[in-house]
Amino acid sequence: MIVGIDVGGTNTDIVSLEGSNFKHLASFKTAELCAERLMSFKDAKAIGVGIAAWIKNGKIIKAPNLSLKTCKEVLDFFRSKCVIENDANCFAIYASKILNVKNLFGVTIGTGIGSGIIVDGKLYIGSGIAGEIGHTFVETKRVCSCGETGHLEASFGGRYMDARGLLESGRIYKIRGFKLFCKSLAFAVMLLDPEIVALGGRIGGRLNAKIVKENVCKYTAREFDFEIVTIKDDLAVAKGAALLASSQIPP
Ligand SMILES: [Zn+2]
Repeated sequence: MIVGIDVGGTNTDIVSLEGSNFKHLASFKTAELCAERLMSFKDAKAIGVGIAAWIKNGKIIKAPNLSLKTCKEVLDFFRSKCVIENDANCFAIYASKILNVKNLFGVTIGTGIGSGIIVDGKLYIGSGIAGEIGHTFVETKRVCSCGETGHLEASFGGRYMDARGLLESGRIYKIRGFKLFCKSLAFAVMLLDPEIVALGGRIGGRLNAKIVKENVCKYTAREFDFEIVTIKDDLAVAKGAALLASSQIPP
C-alpha cells in the first residue's frame, strides 16, 4: 500500500493508493496530528507527504500556516520512507494526471494560497520553492502569515476572509482580493503559458471557473489560450502525494 498525506494549514487528509485506486483513510484537524495518529500507516510501502510548507533540498525552510513542531513530528515519524513535497505541488501533480495535460499551473486556495508548476509532464521546482504565488506582492497593507506585508494570500486566503459566506452569496467575485488574485493568475499565465490552470483547495475548488477565466482574461494578452478548471476534491493533495511517492519506487 502507498499512502498519501496532506498536512494542510487546518486539515490533514490521508489516502491510500493501490494500483490506480485511491481510498480515503482518515481526516482530522492538523492541530491533532501526532505520532499515534500516523502509527497505522507506518508499514506502507511508500509514503508521500504534501505539506503546507516551503521545501528546499528535502528540508522545510518555512511554513507560514503550520507549526514547525507539526512539520518535525511528521518528518521524524516517517524518516527515510517518505517523500515530502509542497502541498500545492502535490495538487498540480494530481491535476495533471487526471486532466492528462503536460503543461499545467495548479493553484490551491484554502487556509493559504499555493501553486505548483508542471512543465512537459514534470514538476518544476526551480531551486526548490518555485511557484509561491500566494506570497507575491499585490500592494495591500495587510500582514501575511509569512510575516511580510502586502501578499496575495493576505487578501484572498481563507485565513483572512469568511470564505464560506462569500462563496455561498457569490460576493467572493466582488471583493478586492478576487481582483488581485485574477491579476496574479494572469501574470503566471503569461509567464508559463499553461494549457490548463487547475484550481483546488477548499476555496479554490469551489470557485466558478467561468467567472475566474473572464476576470483573468482582463489582464492577459488575447493570444494566450488556456482553460481554467476547478477540481472539487478535498483529497487532491493527498492523492498527488501518493502519486509522487509511487513514482519514486524503483521498478
Ligand atoms: Zn506571504
